Amino acid sequence: MTRLDAKNKGMNTRLAHIGYDPADFFGFVNPPVVHASTVLFPDTATMASRNQKYTYGTRGTPTSDALAGAIDALEGSAGTVIVPSGLVAVTLPLLAFLSAGDHVLITDSVYHPTRHFADTMLKRMGVEVEYYAPEIGGAIAASMKPNTRVVFTESPGSNTFEMQDIDAIAEAAHKGDAVVMMDNTWATPLYFKPLDHGVDVSIHAATKYPAGHSDVLLGTVSANERTWKQLHETFITLGCCAGPDDAYQVLRGLRTMGVRLAHHEKSALELARWLEGREGVAQVLHPALESHPGYDLWKRDFTGSSGLFSIVLASGGPKEAGAFLDALEIFGLGYSWGGFESLAVAVSLSDRTVAKGDYSGPVIRLQIGVEEVEDLKADILKGLEAVRRISA
Ligand SMILES: *Cc1c(COP(=O)(O)O)cnc(C)c1O
Repeated sequence: MTRLDAKNKGMNTRLAHIGYDPADFFGFVNPPVVHASTVLFPDTATMASRNQKYTYGTRGTPTSDALAGAIDALEGSAGTVIVPSGLVAVTLPLLAFLSAGDHVLITDSVYHPTRHFADTMLKRMGVEVEYYAPEIGGAIAASMKPNTRVVFTESPGSNTFEMQDIDAIAEAAHKGDAVVMMDNTWATPLYFKPLDHGVDVSIHAATKYPAGHSDVLLGTVSANERTWKQLHETFITLGCCAGPDDAYQVLRGLRTMGVRLAHHEKSALELARWLEGREGVAQVLHPALESHPGYDLWKRDFTGSSGLFSIVLASGGPKEAGAFLDALEIFGLGYSWGGFESLAVAVSLSDRTVAKGDYSGPVIRLQIGVEEVEDLKADILKGLEAVRRISA
């Protein structure tokens, strides 16, 4: 519930007000952080009736509801569960919809820990796991089997940013009665709305832009009417609820996510354009660049781009990648992204089966933080100069 009917308002207006009505808690602008396992019932009749709103901490609190409500408003979903990490947001829906004997199609450009889960736990459970080329589009129909229960998409792909035709994939998957999932962490629901494009279950590592400060781990999973009941049932069965302080921090992050993302977007695009054609850089993998093979799909479906993209060095291997990374002073070396600080990491494509790519040199992923672009350019030049020195 919100004080404003925010539905028809602009995005930043909605982000400032969705999820919580100050009148629900003495007018305080932010919701209370409810630390809870036990909830008391007034009498045994109420306990037996099961119609008290809150019954136990694992099943939801006013704090988790505020965040879930805000995410539902952004996603247009029937329901959202809040889980302790982005990786749980991936594994929970897969566990909810796959059983022994089922077949799952997963994009080959998927976030590596998603692949690890599929190749270990899903296979052990007796699920047949198959990877498809991210550019497959409607031709995925040919890969559908009678037992294909889930098609798992991620667009753009992790590290190499291939775009997928989500509408065409969803249409083919639904003809085979499969559930379509999408890891939409890169775009956030601000720049792409999966459920409007036929996706049934939208997945986010809220650790990234929603949290925005590299200090919180959280995931959200949002489902349409068709899939909500089963997703929620699995969430309750597994007991994988998130802590209230983390849920609170992510709702707090959502309030400013629009303005932060706009800054990440602008800086990343400026750097990506500046890097294109620069000596020592063979390619810039950013779907909002006209040169990117997925540009037309990005333009058709997305309303913006975020601050994460990759560059391909002109030549060399791990030694050159190491020289580039070790010369950086502002960019930190570390995993994850979506925070205020810039990060760089060398990308491994050794896990790919069909989307191996044909890259002239090492692929380096850059997360562009909120620092000044001129300072980031100078830092990148130091990296490129270090590569030149060892190659000369
Ligand atoms: C980071 C990430 C995740 C996992 O999020 P964690 O909170 O770090 O577990 C899932 N998917 C994508 C695309 C990510 O980048």
